[in-house]
Amino acid sequence: MEKYAKPTKGAHGTSGPIGIGYGAEWMPLIDTYLEAADDALKCGIIPDYNDGNVVGASVAQFNITGGERITSPGAFLKTIPDTLTLWTETEVNKIVLDGKKAVGVEVKKNGKKEVVKGSEIIVSCGTIGSPAVLMRSGITTKENPAIGKNLKDHLILSLEFELNSKLLSHHQILEDPDLAAAAEKAYRLGKNGDLVKFGGSSGVIFPKLDSVYKSKEFQKIDSETKAFLEDPGRPTTEIWFMVIDLLGGLISERRGLLATATAEGEELYHV
Ligand SMILES: Cc1cc2nc3c(=O)[nH]c(=O)nc-3n(C[C@H](O)[C@H](O)[C@H](O)COP(=O)(O)OP(=O)(O)OC[C@H]3O[C@@H](n4cnc5c(N)ncnc54)[C@H](O)[C@@H]3O)c2cc1C
Repeated sequence: MEKYAKPTKGAHGTSGPIGIGYGAEWMPLIDTYLEAADDALKCGIIPDYNDGNVVGASVAQFNITGGERITSPGAFLKTIPDTLTLWTETEVNKIVLDGKKAVGVEVKKNGKKEVVKGSEIIVSCGTIGSPAVLMRSGITTKENPAIGKNLKDHLILSLEFELNSKLLSHHQILEDPDLAAAAEKAYRLGKNGDLVKFGGSSGVIFPKLDSVYKSKEFQKIDSETKAFLEDPGRPTTEIWFMVIDLLGGLISERRGLLATATAEGEELYHV
């Protein structure tokens, strides 16, 4: 298994409240998926894609420690400091400015506008939300349109498979009260079972697809974006693998066609 998953020494921190790792059990066929990816795309198998080199096929890492997924509140709010007040159902409208200094935040709480004063304002509304707040605050102007300008989105493909009729899929387990109860029991008793396989393991490929860079569509992109995308460490896309074999090794052998095409219909790659 080290061929597929082996943390690079020194590439990860060892302290801190959010751990990273793998579920105790993996879905079957992850190794087959990685080998097939390497075979078809010549992308290599990377045993630790969080060490700075992401291009290749890997076993996905999750925020899991001691068999449990970790959430931000689970990690950071185990003990709530006296100085912290959390307001739910509250939307930030804009930052209140005194000249160029941020002195507060205007929020909408239960439908009512309110201003909260503060000596330091940290904007953390996410990739879309933060620029929107800054724009509503008048910080982005016609003279300074740079905020949000560098937003880059990326493609993600999730491969879905038709399963052998004897196999059960994730949602079938969750929708069947008996199967869901059995999966939960297995997790509670031993931190293993189908919940762990589904929620704590996957294969992921970050390939570099030459055909994309040779496509007519790519040639039309501006040179700055081209250079950004061509960086050897920057993958072309992200492809996830999800399948479950509840009854043990009964998935029939299948070969399929995966094709990606440009908006103009030019086929870029097929496997
Ligand atoms: C599909 C997907 C897969 C990803 N996979 C990975 C991954 O595998 N590894 C990885 O490292 N990263 C991954 N990311 C990226 C990661 O989720 C983000 O980088 C991270 O969540 C950013 O954290 P944040 O706190 O800055 O913003 P967010 O997590 O976006 O939090 C912003 C919060 O602000 C709230 N908000 C927005 N506007 C307002 C407003 N006006 N008033 C009040 N609240 C507001 C939002 O509701 C949200 O709760 C993924 C992202 C996506 C979408």
